[in-house]
Amino acid sequence: MPDGIGDWTPEVFEESGRQLLAEIREHFEGIRQKPVSAPIDPADLMSLLDGALPENGEGFPGILADTWEKVVPGLVQWNHPSFHGYFPTCASFPGVLAETMTAALNVNAMLWKTSPAASALEQVVITWLADLAGYPQSADGVLVNGASLATLYALAAAREAATSFDVREHGLAGAPALRIYTSDQAHSSVEKAAITLGVGMANVVRVPSDDGYRMRPDLLEEAIRRDRAAGVVPLAVVATVGTTSVAADDPLEGIADICRRHDVWLHVDAAYAGFYRICPSLRDTVEDLSLGDSLVVNPQKTLYVPLEATALYCRRKGQLAATFRLVPEYLTSVHHEKTFDYMDLSPQLGRSFRALKLWWVIRAFGRVGLASRLEHSVALADRLRETASVHPDWQVVAPSRYPLVCLRYEPRAWQSGTDAESQTRRAALDELNAEIVAAINADGRAYVSHSVIRCGYVIRVSIGNIHTADADLGRLWGVLNEVAEGVVARYPTSGVGQRAVRSA
Ligand SMILES: *Cc1c(COP(=O)(O)O)cnc(C)c1O
Repeated sequence: MPDGIGDWTPEVFEESGRQLLAEIREHFEGIRQKPVSAPIDPADLMSLLDGALPENGEGFPGILADTWEKVVPGLVQWNHPSFHGYFPTCASFPGVLAETMTAALNVNAMLWKTSPAASALEQVVITWLADLAGYPQSADGVLVNGASLATLYALAAAREAATSFDVREHGLAGAPALRIYTSDQAHSSVEKAAITLGVGMANVVRVPSDDGYRMRPDLLEEAIRRDRAAGVVPLAVVATVGTTSVAADDPLEGIADICRRHDVWLHVDAAYAGFYRICPSLRDTVEDLSLGDSLVVNPQKTLYVPLEATALYCRRKGQLAATFRLVPEYLTSVHHEKTFDYMDLSPQLGRSFRALKLWWVIRAFGRVGLASRLEHSVALADRLRETASVHPDWQVVAPSRYPLVCLRYEPRAWQSGTDAESQTRRAALDELNAEIVAAINADGRAYVSHSVIRCGYVIRVSIGNIHTADADLGRLWGVLNEVAEGVVARYPTSGVGQRAVRSA
């Protein structure tokens, strides 16, 4: 090829690839010596990365060096064994390699004919994932990019079912008032779906949860009855298995029974916890996900597959296609008995070959290997809960069966006080725990996130990285204590009174 056109030569590609792989290996071998995150001033970061649009191309070594020096330190290392924020999205090595292969092939999995093996493989992994999640393997299923979008698509299908497929054709004008029921603990993606679907956030009914943060079926049924009597059409109930704040499970059996009796679509959001049922220790305790008319599970969260990989299922056969299938002339194809087009099951047309990374990771570890890795996370979390629960300064709050540990630091010195003081004390402890989270994340040796639940501000420690070992958890416990004690020591004399004065 003459200069100025064409790709890198295959030699440059391979050489660069080898260099990249070697450096990624070094990155992971030394990762425990690197911070999970480092405080960085946004303006400094922008000036570090800002640059004029390159006029001419440059060699890969400079691009790669800049990536390690200027970009990576400004990231939160989600793939670090001491990352415990939010819910983990851990990419295993086979998953990382699969992304390269996927990009190299760069196929579009929209129609069977545009890449037959991509559609066939998607069918295979969709069936495997259904098997892992305990959902009927005959259900319709599709890989989408994120649980929020899966819930949006499921609720779009539920909206069609609730309106006899009329909204698809005529829009919402003239449609009855529609409502979605979910618990006060459900993920914000339910409201986002209501925004996008034109249902409106005001029509998302947040059913109160019980002491264990589980949706109360009796109150759900009351709300549905009341609304039906007022002429409102229930669009769907969204139940959660593994809630975001504390990883609680809604009681699916009772909820599904209500949905059946009132003929309401049940969507189950098991984005986080859906695969934990494969752990031997949890097998008999986890909710039955097959009770949902539709289900979302997120391999990108717990099956060591890189972002983005989410599975949406619908056991009401044909309903996703009845909602989304639309075939203009330029997308028509001749169908055989065994062919199908994944573009029919969601609004997305051009689709990356997400199935490959799932196929690689599931094959690399197998069901048994995945189960033992998940079980390892569960065991680490149980141990952390045990350790914290016998420590006088820590409270384990809202214990979950999943590896999400919610902690609140309540130092002995602050545990005085009468009822009259308790509001002040609670506010002071909220502030203290928020400062501890900020201090841990600034420290860099571990990364955690937070939520606010009934007892107040809590520190969420989510365990699920494939590289996290026993020793990492030991170190985490040390960091939690050291940082918490350090934050408390910043106050001249510890205690509620001083803090109340300080914040007044
Ligand atoms: C993570 C999560 C979501 C959102 O998932 P995305 O893939 O980030 O859109 C929704 N619901 C629950 C219960 C979750 O844990």
